[in-house]
Amino acid sequence: MTTLFISDLHLDAERPEIADQLKTFLKTEAVDADALYILGDLFESWVGDDDPNPHYATVKIALRTLVSRGVPVYFMHGNRDFAIGEVFAQETGVKILPDPLVVELYGENVLLSHGDAYCTDDVQYQTIRKMTRDPEWLKMMLKKPLQERLAFAAKARAASAAHGGAINEKIADVNQRAIERAMLENNVDTMLHGHTHRPATHRFTLDEEPASRIVLGDWFEQGSVVRWDKNGPKLCELAR
Ligand code: MN
Repeated sequence: MTTLFISDLHLDAERPEIADQLKTFLKTEAVDADALYILGDLFESWVGDDDPNPHYATVKIALRTLVSRGVPVYFMHGNRDFAIGEVFAQETGVKILPDPLVVELYGENVLLSHGDAYCTDDVQYQTIRKMTRDPEWLKMMLKKPLQERLAFAAKARAASAAHGGAINEKIADVNQRAIERAMLENNVDTMLHGHTHRPATHRFTLDEEPASRIVLGDWFEQGSVVRWDKNGPKLCELAR
């Protein structure tokens, strides 16, 4: 049996082919999985569980269907969909996980994260992250009218795109020392995350032991999935 991991689909009504590919994945391969973990940025933008976005509604139904077929589905917040809450969890049956989290996969302890918390070289981003992940800030935001939240999210996306274009490649990536610190704190030699859209398996030494960090890719051009079974993880592309 296999445990599946995906992240960074950035689902949006303007890119319906991504949702189509996800729905096919949920109806086929995922049905036979031990579990499916979604490590953040499933949606391009989430302004609250009360948003009636019809594109997102179809995805919620597809997730609900997979859960009802007996496959546990777990979700970790990304920087685009950190406002996903308990109503979404109830509607879909998806369980929301804290970030980061150690899970045991076929006898191996693995640290899971969306990954943005480790982009510590991007000081400006971390300042915004600290604000938006404050539960009090989120509560205040979610009380605002839906139209106001949608306008705020559109502005935040434009600012994020401008910021992403202005900083260099290295600053936008995770900081290796921050990664190593988290792995040592959590006593793991394997980590899996998304966010950076740079699919790869990085091998290095941690406390004189071999260690690895697997990075999921985004779904803009093709799908990206990690298939984990008793033989370990495999980072794969899903052709579209
Ligand atoms: Mn992200």
